[in-house]
Amino acid sequence: MYCDLHTHSTASDGTDAPGDLPMLAKQAGLSAIALTDHDTTDGLAEFLAAAKIARIRAVPGIELSADPAILHADTDPSPDQPPRLGTLHLLGYFIQPEAPLLAEVQAHLREARAQRNPQMIARLNELGMDIHYDEVIQIAGGNIVGRPHIGQVLMQKGYVKSIHEAFSRYLGGRGEAYVRKDRLSAEQAIQAIHDADGLAVLAHPTQLGLESASQLEHAVARLKTLGLDGMETRHSDHHPRDTERFSKLATKLNLLTTGGSDYHGSRKTLALGCQKVPLSVYEDLLESHRQRIGG
Ligand SMILES: [Zn+2]
Ligand SMILES: [Zn+2]
Repeated sequence: MYCDLHTHSTASDGTDAPGDLPMLAKQAGLSAIALTDHDTTDGLAEFLAAAKIARIRAVPGIELSADPAILHADTDPSPDQPPRLGTLHLLGYFIQPEAPLLAEVQAHLREARAQRNPQMIARLNELGMDIHYDEVIQIAGGNIVGRPHIGQVLMQKGYVKSIHEAFSRYLGGRGEAYVRKDRLSAEQAIQAIHDADGLAVLAHPTQLGLESASQLEHAVARLKTLGLDGMETRHSDHHPRDTERFSKLATKLNLLTTGGSDYHGSRKTLALGCQKVPLSVYEDLLESHRQRIGG
């Protein structure tokens, strides 16, 4: 019996409705599924209700993006080569969707996202370009507005010749109109998950972009001091060798292990359940959660 503990729905960037996932998981032969949308619990109520009808074990979850700077905080700073920062995603499992701190975090992130694009457009205006937010919204056509849409408008208006140029001159990390993304610290993310009675798990450790085994161990140990409960050892980006070394590290640091496909529907080619995560992984997670909440 298998489970899949990492999936996305239309509540973030997946293509299946949260209410369709339980039945799809059942059809894929799974016995348990977690919904872990990016920075939102919006799909959870629909997901849990559908799981009851489909008679499949369901885990309410979330995947929070956090600032990866912490992972490099005490590596030797080299003035010529600043560390290349990877991606730090933290999964929350068995969370209370309505928990106040988690709701606050989501509102903060929504607000930051809503302000960032208009701020970049204001900078472009200051640079003398005639571009309005309405035009960008129109180009996005109902999708979440992002820098590529701003780039498209710049191209249409002849300010740049390509999206590439739009990023290198204006919208990229070193561009003149770039506005930094406001991010949660790892500590805030873990706290918000714990405050919602959840377990905090480091997602896809390969994406941290850490080269050596010692750097990785150092980073995970640091997250553990902030309260990390587990790490995702099976993931579609992981080579079997990665899964093995992450499992060893988890044992060494006394962390839970989890796994999932990172299913996004038709947006990616990964199938639900493709990681063949044994149901015992779900059961261990559930047991830890019960101990945590004292039930
Ligand atoms: Zn992720
Ligand atoms: Zn994900």
